[in-house]
Amino acid sequence: MAGNDPALKRWAILKRPYGAPLPMTDHAFQHCIIPACGQSYAVDDVLFACRKCGALLDVRYDWDLARPPDTLSFFDARRAAATGRPGTGPDSSGVWRFRELLPFARDDDLATIGEGRTLLQQADELAAAIGIKPGRLFLQYEGFNPSGSFKDNGMAAAFTIARRLGKRRVACASTGNTSASLALYAHHTAAAGQQMEAVVFVGGGKIALGKLAQALDYGARTLQIEGDFDTCMELIQRSAHRLDLYVMNSVNPFRLEGQKTIIYRVLEGLNWEVPDWIIVPGGNLGNSSAFGKALVELRDLGLIDRLPRLAIINAEGANTLYELYNDHHIRFDGGKVGHHTADAYFAMIVAEGRSARTVASAIEIGRPVNLIKALRSLEWLSGVVEQVADEVILDGKALVGRYGYGCEPASGASIAGLRRLLDTQVISPTDRVVCILTGHGLKDPQVTVAYHTDRRPPAARAFPNPPVAVAADIEAIESALSK
Ligand SMILES: *Cc1c(COP(=O)(O)O)cnc(C)c1O
Ligand SMILES: [Zn+2]
Repeated sequence: MAGNDPALKRWAILKRPYGAPLPMTDHAFQHCIIPACGQSYAVDDVLFACRKCGALLDVRYDWDLARPPDTLSFFDARRAAATGRPGTGPDSSGVWRFRELLPFARDDDLATIGEGRTLLQQADELAAAIGIKPGRLFLQYEGFNPSGSFKDNGMAAAFTIARRLGKRRVACASTGNTSASLALYAHHTAAAGQQMEAVVFVGGGKIALGKLAQALDYGARTLQIEGDFDTCMELIQRSAHRLDLYVMNSVNPFRLEGQKTIIYRVLEGLNWEVPDWIIVPGGNLGNSSAFGKALVELRDLGLIDRLPRLAIINAEGANTLYELYNDHHIRFDGGKVGHHTADAYFAMIVAEGRSARTVASAIEIGRPVNLIKALRSLEWLSGVVEQVADEVILDGKALVGRYGYGCEPASGASIAGLRRLLDTQVISPTDRVVCILTGHGLKDPQVTVAYHTDRRPPAARAFPNPPVAVAADIEAIESALSK
């Protein structure tokens, strides 16, 4: 395996020549998410919606053939063996060390740049600050990924399939982090000797500077489209075939297979004990979709014996799921989901000229592509959907900065949502809660600095820590420090 190849000096995209016959694992296939349709497609069929009914697709497995481990502690032994070894292979990846649970590719095909080396932090100080009992609140910090967001989990899986299909031009619409991740994986792939061009569509002026900096630095062709994320997403879906772009957004079901591993690492961090709640910000709803699938698969395989509940948090200014779920009562309902309700809602949004608007740019999405899959997760996990204002999102983010490792605004929505669900007594202070922190604190420094320095009334910001202007004089410094 190339991961053990001493000549490979960088984090490895494992080498496999294009054009070589690429044997598919014979136990993986794509499957329509609507049970009444039930259409299947081969793994190498390039499509992002069911040809029969237009619904989204899952990657599914024949588990009898795939033969996953019969206990989750199997992964402890592997992890212990990989720890301390300077590895670049799949066992050193926080995605691929769980490869038996997403077995669509052969070991030699796996793409990795060291993603998923994350941390589940027991956050007792933060818990105390918001009224949760000690030992009950955990933060899953995905900012430790190579490009600084959870998107790398998905890209490892999506690049694996892109390479296997011989794709040389990959693309995404992005609020920022998807493009950063795509660009990083593409240039590592190219550096491993396989041509791979990254094309990213970002909304004009709607991207945090840290993320734009990454896309440019990593060499992606960056198209700043006049319009917002939803416009970019629609354009990329319409143009993919004509421009020969392989779409790496979360409509690509392989990406969601990679994102399932966030859940595996959360459970691993809890010694495989299932928490009561998982709280995640909702944008395009890829994570929400992947988490439900991961957990239900584990349950169906007998690897866990109960399911946690899921809370998806929208920003008030980008609250499509919140409105559809809580006001229009739209449900997955075993796949009988009312597309009409959603379509009528989107028609109304267009007619009213509404577009998504929030400081949490990563979740500034009005038309989430994974809506129906997220509804399925909500059904599976007895979920709730909450919305939070930008002010409380920023306070949530500030709390993570003070008591955790920091995070970007969208991730702060998890904490803001948790506080709201504690207030409304949906979550109790003794519940075991995991908040997913989706992106790194340095992605959007402008928002952070504005939060701490802005001269708006302090009521709008609960935890500001402004810098203090001091003369270049020791006495002045002494006096400033004594305040
Ligand atoms: C992409 C992204 C989100 C939204 O995730 P979805 O899976 O699309 O709902 C949230 N936070 C950050 C930091 C992101 O990059
Ligand atoms: Zn179908």
